[in-house]
Amino acid sequence: MSEYQISTDCLHAGYRPANGEPRNPPIVQSTTFRYESSEEMGKLFDLEASGYFYTRLQNPTNDTVAAKICALEGGSAAMLLSSGQAANFYAIFNLASCGDHIVASASIYGGTYNLFAVTMKRMGIEFTFVDPECSEEELNAAFRPNTKAVFGESIANPALTVLDIEKFAKAAHAHGVPLIMDNTFATPVNCRPFEWGCDIVTHSTTKYMDGHALTVGGAIVDSGKFDWTAHKDKFPGLTTPDESYHGVTYAERFGLEGAFITKATVQLMRDLGSIPSPHNCFLLNVGLETLPLRMKKHCENAQAVAEYLQGHEKIAWVQYAGLPNDTYHERAKKYMPNGTCGVVIFGVKGGRAAAEKFMAGLKLASIATHVADAKTCVLHPASSTHRQMSDAELAAAGVSPDLVRFSVGIEDIADILADLKQALERV
Ligand SMILES: *Cc1c(COP(=O)(O)O)cnc(C)c1O
Repeated sequence: MSEYQISTDCLHAGYRPANGEPRNPPIVQSTTFRYESSEEMGKLFDLEASGYFYTRLQNPTNDTVAAKICALEGGSAAMLLSSGQAANFYAIFNLASCGDHIVASASIYGGTYNLFAVTMKRMGIEFTFVDPECSEEELNAAFRPNTKAVFGESIANPALTVLDIEKFAKAAHAHGVPLIMDNTFATPVNCRPFEWGCDIVTHSTTKYMDGHALTVGGAIVDSGKFDWTAHKDKFPGLTTPDESYHGVTYAERFGLEGAFITKATVQLMRDLGSIPSPHNCFLLNVGLETLPLRMKKHCENAQAVAEYLQGHEKIAWVQYAGLPNDTYHERAKKYMPNGTCGVVIFGVKGGRAAAEKFMAGLKLASIATHVADAKTCVLHPASSTHRQMSDAELAAAGVSPDLVRFSVGIEDIADILADLKQALERV
């Protein structure tokens, strides 16, 4: 556990320069690292010594930033990946293979849904999607003997469903499997899933962590608390020898703290190779320094936007957990007492056509397939990020056809509200 508050860790965790060293983590832009003898390098290949030899496996710049994100979440180990998609894929594929099963909340990001329901299904991994508001009985009924994990998003993109973390963690643990949570929208500044029983956290660092729409990236953080050895037969990948490393058993060699991330690094990253560039990690680190300041401003501005829209005659509905009458208001107060995120969703009266007219009228906010960066942007998910989903799947994911996702930036709130006002006047 860090001795500092999270805003201090956003600046200092992961990298403390020694006497005369650079104040910022250097960008080690090198594919490879030189050794005096093949014997020395061989030890690294056999996981008998730790050190750098090839950036696909590990790089010093990437590692400093991973260590920072690890500290922010209060985890035991972390790794960075080239995208949020890779992070969610690796987190699940590190535990499940052909013939296995995962329980997932139905209210998740469209890209993740597609990864699970289409691509990973083709790999022989089956997913059962549950209504996040299901009863404990319904949730327990979704498990099978071959279930290997439970997955959900702390705040779902774009439905803004706030997950009942304790309910999902309890069900997962009752069935001897970990809860994996995508904490992208809340960020560790607003929500710390490990404190509520979650075991593994994933991120699309592309969003608030980078915060400036500069780099696509992902992260996985392990709490180090899930006891793989207590459920040995469920997780053979962690508890039995890996022949591709001369029979190393991850849970034994690297302990509960290191087993999950070490396996995902030396096995999955080695074979699948979704490594972020050191330069991108450097940029991510710059973004992380101001994450607490930005989250505060995003939340303040989003609150003002939600309140403005709620009182507007041309708006059909507004959803934002900061609104006292919001479905998730109480739950958000419990899990995210300092605020949720800067994304507000709403419907314009007149449905899809009115939404398109409204969006075209915006001058400050840009239409972008992005969310959660410093500049306000807006998207109509049903015709973009979620267009591969059927109406029934959209409904299950909490995405209505008229839903507008408004990602409130950190501009002056008066300018954001004025932009909304003039665009709504044109509808
Ligand atoms: C964007 C997003 C992802 C995918 O991340 P990429 O960095 O775009 O690959 C995953 N989960 C959530 C919640 C997201 O918002």
